Amino acid sequence: MTEPAKPRIELHCHTTASDGTLSPAELVERAVSRNIRYLAVTDHDTVGGLEEAREAAAGRLELIPGIEVSCYHQHREVHVLGYFFEPRDDRLTEFLEAMQTARRHRMEQMLEKLRGLGVELTLEDVMAQAEGESVGRPHLADALVARELVVDRQHAFEAYLGNRGPVYVPRRTVTVPEGLELLKSCGAAVVLAHPGLLFSRALAAELLELPFDGLEVWHPAHQKKDQKRFLRLARSRAKIPTGGSDFHEPGSSSRPELGSMRVPLETVEALRTAAGGT
Ligand code: AMP
Ligand code: FE
Ligand code: FE
Ligand code: ZN
Repeated sequence: MTEPAKPRIELHCHTTASDGTLSPAELVERAVSRNIRYLAVTDHDTVGGLEEAREAAAGRLELIPGIEVSCYHQHREVHVLGYFFEPRDDRLTEFLEAMQTARRHRMEQMLEKLRGLGVELTLEDVMAQAEGESVGRPHLADALVARELVVDRQHAFEAYLGNRGPVYVPRRTVTVPEGLELLKSCGAAVVLAHPGLLFSRALAAELLELPFDGLEVWHPAHQKKDQKRFLRLARSRAKIPTGGSDFHEPGSSSRPELGSMRVPLETVEALRTAAGGT
């Protein structure tokens, strides 16, 4: 007899509520079929997918409310993950509405830059690619693909949209301490996302001076040696080591499958406790 597959957890993934390609219900189906017992949906700057995910998950797996908030530090982006919070919190709702407005405004600015390069796309063209409210560069990439100007999202980032690309416009969101405070105010456990993607190697240690509960150690952008380094850092600061696949779409060449990062099961309870046991 074969051993039953070990239950898995997934603490970092995206749906059509932001820039993933699976709907929240489809993502839950995929999680169930991959033996995931605890699933946190962490869309960028929105909780718009959580209700559908919660309904699809009922009685099949535990759906953990999650979010990935874009913050900034010294003009660069820092992503902060929140777990086990109240998604309908008034302050959070107001904050996220402002984020969506800022995202649309910034998209207009990127379209203006694109126009300067001779490519005419409208906000409607981009919104047609976005099913949720959290519109971003991946949707603009999809609009460029639809126009057959590039072959896929990856090429759109390489040619136009990457952080050093000709169309990129940075977003002013909230500072990291502001983002942290906001998430804590609605009861979240807060985790510094993918520190290996920060613009400076020393920054993770500096940011962990803030009252983060955890540090994302196991992430596809981290090599084995990065994982070791961040695990040591998390332990030395008494932070919960967490991880996830950052899944956005099936069959991606650059990102692994849902639930494929080996993250210890006890991480869930550690986060739940840090969030106040709710
Ligand atoms: P935005 O929040 O609009 O700035 O878009 C950022 C999102 O774009 C990230 O969360 C990724 O999902 C995606 N992204 C960023 N850089 C790349 C890249 N080089 N290739 C593919 N996707 C990317
Ligand atoms: Fe994304
Ligand atoms: Fe991120
Ligand atoms: Zn992510």
